[in-house]
Amino acid sequence: MSQGPNRRLLALQTEILEAVATGMPVAAVAALLCRRVEALAPSAICTIVGISERGELSPIAAPSLPASYSAALAGVPIGPNTGSCGTAAHLKQAVETRDIATDPRWADYAGLALPLGLRACWSSPILARDGRVVATFAFYYRSRRGPGALERGIVDTCVHLCAIAIAHSEAQRRNHELAHFDQLTGLPNRWQFNAILGGLLARPAPSFGLILVDADHLKSINDTMGHMVGDHLIREVADRIRRAAPATTPCRLAGDEFAILVEPCADHAVLDGVAAAVLAALRAPFACDGNVLVPQATAGGAVHGIDGTAAETLCQNADFALHHAKETRRGGYVAFEPGLRTAITRRIGAIRDVDRALAEDRILAHYQPLVRLDTGRIIGLEALARLRLPDGRIAAAGQFHSAFSDHNVAYRLTDRVLAQVAADMRAWLDRGIAVQHVGINLSTADFRRGDLEARLEAAFGAAGVPLRHLVLEVTETVLMGGPGNDIGLAVARLRERGLLVALDDFGTGYASLTHLLSFPVDIIKVDKTFVDRLLTDRPSAVIIEAMIELGRKLDVRIVAEGIEEPEQRTRLQELGCGLGQGFLFARPVDMATATGLLAAGYLPPASPPAPAADDDPGLLVADRSRGLS
Ligand code: C2E
Ligand code: CA
Ligand code: CA
Repeated sequence: MSQGPNRRLLALQTEILEAVATGMPVAAVAALLCRRVEALAPSAICTIVGISERGELSPIAAPSLPASYSAALAGVPIGPNTGSCGTAAHLKQAVETRDIATDPRWADYAGLALPLGLRACWSSPILARDGRVVATFAFYYRSRRGPGALERGIVDTCVHLCAIAIAHSEAQRRNHELAHFDQLTGLPNRWQFNAILGGLLARPAPSFGLILVDADHLKSINDTMGHMVGDHLIREVADRIRRAAPATTPCRLAGDEFAILVEPCADHAVLDGVAAAVLAALRAPFACDGNVLVPQATAGGAVHGIDGTAAETLCQNADFALHHAKETRRGGYVAFEPGLRTAITRRIGAIRDVDRALAEDRILAHYQPLVRLDTGRIIGLEALARLRLPDGRIAAAGQFHSAFSDHNVAYRLTDRVLAQVAADMRAWLDRGIAVQHVGINLSTADFRRGDLEARLEAAFGAAGVPLRHLVLEVTETVLMGGPGNDIGLAVARLRERGLLVALDDFGTGYASLTHLLSFPVDIIKVDKTFVDRLLTDRPSAVIIEAMIELGRKLDVRIVAEGIEEPEQRTRLQELGCGLGQGFLFARPVDMATATGLLAAGYLPPASPPAPAADDDPGLLVADRSRGLS
């Protein structure tokens, strides 16, 4: 090579490396290189063709050829007879075709090159540092010929420059992916989610919705089965979301939190549909590493234009809905509505208050008597949690029971109530005061650790109070809503131990009579709302009458809650309801007052004393003899 071309080659090298270093896109660098090289070797027409990961040609630059030529090559798989470039990539070595018209490797492609006047082609593979073929660098000639010595020198340099430019661009793409996509699932990450959200909001008439999905139990799966299984689960969740909601944009925001952008989305019905499909897809079991996991997720959603227009409001409201779903409907979906904001703020306040009260020993139990409606005789008590405020006033459970959605708080509260009830019952037994049964209200949290029986034994065993004096009050939501539904089993076992179980707030949830057959209980407490409507609303009376009839057949006692008016009491008696509870007889009272009521045995408005107390089965069901010891 003479001094002149050598210097020009050096200048070319510097120019290209500078272009790479300043971040010029790889296609522009390649085109620049081709043009500079064609100036150095005037009889050559220069092309650079990328090789995709799938092994297909992907033209990068051919500034002196018509675009149609590159377009025709795009997507052609490399192989032993795919022109000079495809063959060079396939063989990982240079291919010199001196006559395109006769070279068998060009048989399928000569028809593309010859009409353009291209007669010969010399292509060299460009290898990445790890040995992959990433591109080819080719010289076409308008005459049948091979490369000259000068051209060989140029191509050596160019192949090297191309390798650098492509490696640089690959690194940039990887960095971009790392910064914008989650490595585990390949989904856009939080950064990219924000960018996509920004893009949606910038549209002239945005129409989209946002669903936040939280994979439940991920932390415990990581802790108990290891991170491999946890990662597998996350990937599976991502795949299932992709498949169940194909026309949406799922993103992974954090460890166990996904976002789904749904576009277009005019109203909540659209999100309801997507959420239902996703949650259903997630519930199918999948096997991993010898374990069978049932991934469950909870979701909340907000619609642009209905639940907010700013990105922040929209995300926050979807988050409120998710939060609410986690507290009240695990495994389900909640659509945002404005009321959720206040409900959640209030609940967070209540959780904090009860948590503090537990720590400062300001949680106590009050007792409300249950009576026979005909005689007013006290047949049991219900323990109700109370919170002593710092100023000494007493707050009823209704004012803070939203805090029980916090499982830790609910669990500790039950412990506190159990301890006090055990101590109070011990005191009553010691003083010879007959208290047949005390009802304890339980939350879902009490069934989650499978230690309820042990806790009851610990509390009442220590006080020497037999468990058969206890009535466990559970609502339908608690009874039906346990993970894997082993709550029903736990309840059945406790009944075997002689405890009575009451289904609380009957009629407010979704328990049907079928549920009653699969979860046998001893007592059904008909909710106050029915009693309230009893005098004015015929269906309520009919339902109560049917309940009483059913109770008789199933040996289940019916207790009417929240009786406030004498007329309600009379009407209930007419319908055949024998037991009740309510302000008409007594409000919940502290232990000392309850002791007085128990000692008297009857409550005003008193009726004539019952015939013979011994015959009175109280809350006991006829065929299950569990009288006082
Ligand atoms: P619940 O189990 O249905 O308890 C009955 C609620 O109705 C009590 O409210 C009681 O004071 C009230 N009540 C009784 N008779 C009448 C009446 O004639 N009129 C009216 N207006 N109300 C009446 P409280 O004590 O505020 O408890 C509210 C709820 O909080 C309870 O409903 C129960 O679900 C929950 N709760 C109370 N104590 C505990 C507890 O120790 N643990 C758990 N897990 N939940 C509790
Ligand atoms: Ca109750
Ligand atoms: Ca109730």
